[in-house]
Amino acid sequence: MKIIGSSNADVGLPLGMAVLRQGGSALDAVERAIRAVESNPLDHTVGLGGLPNLVGVVELDASIMDGTTRLAGAVAGMHGFEHPISIARRVMQDLPHALLVGEGAERFARECGFEERDLLTPEAQDIYEQGLRRGGDGAPYASAVLRAVVGRLAMQPERASGKDAGTVNVLALDSAGNLAVGVSTSGFAWKYPGRVGDSAVIGAGNYCDGRFGAAACTGRGEIAIRAATAHSVVSYLRAGDDPLAAGRRAMEELNDFADAYFSTMNCVVLAPDGRHAAFSSQEGARYALMDETSTEVQMLPRTFVRVSPVDA
Ligand code: ASP
Repeated sequence: MKIIGSSNADVGLPLGMAVLRQGGSALDAVERAIRAVESNPLDHTVGLGGLPNLVGVVELDASIMDGTTRLAGAVAGMHGFEHPISIARRVMQDLPHALLVGEGAERFARECGFEERDLLTPEAQDIYEQGLRRGGDGAPYASAVLRAVVGRLAMQPERASGKDAGTVNVLALDSAGNLAVGVSTSGFAWKYPGRVGDSAVIGAGNYCDGRFGAAACTGRGEIAIRAATAHSVVSYLRAGDDPLAAGRRAMEELNDFADAYFSTMNCVVLAPDGRHAAFSSQEGARYALMDETSTEVQMLPRTFVRVSPVDA
């Protein structure tokens, strides 16, 4: 039994581990852990308290994948629901679909009985407005987005709260040997409305195959989408690499995809035998872990892999 994740998953891992200890499934553990992060208003990268898009609306992406059935569910560009991970799970379980977006996702959430709520906290609104001032009022959207991205790189609110990654990743291995992965995010702050990141894209920010392993990403979603990073990691596991080698290969490939704005990437890997590894393009980053012997969450160093633009 094991549950690992991005460092900001620390608030949820004990709850996920409790599920595993009671004989619950990897899927239940992942969902439970991520729900706790989605409800944490201090985390400005996920769920309640997440930073909004360019027009001030909190816009969420999430996905979940079951390694045993290789079924997956995802939602993207959703507004007004605190637990997109649970809605993604219902997409996986109740519909013959893998991804719902925007109004369709919200309609489905309502039909499933999920409660609606305003996710924009006063603190998140404040950070958003400061960023807009840096971006300049009245600028055409595309250039405002660009300036906002630069502003965010300088500001990094998640760093201010001592976290080293936006977006939450949780990967779990249950007592029956099932693997599952979940990812949830409010995405890039000040993103263009409708922009979907890797967190909702199976193969990019999330992939799980119970025979070989699981991987999840945080960082600049655009490069994980273009490189299909989570799927690459699992492909390398399938080819016989251990988690350290598989993750490193997938991270090193990103050098071909990085550009001046989009070169941050983090990845967490879990094999069916419990071996694990995590990577970051930023030095000093960490990931979180619990297993059956843990009394508290352990924070472990990620392996640093430089990801830089080809012409840097
Ligand atoms: N990967 C997320 C996205 O691109 C953001 C992040 O991890 O900071 O939406």
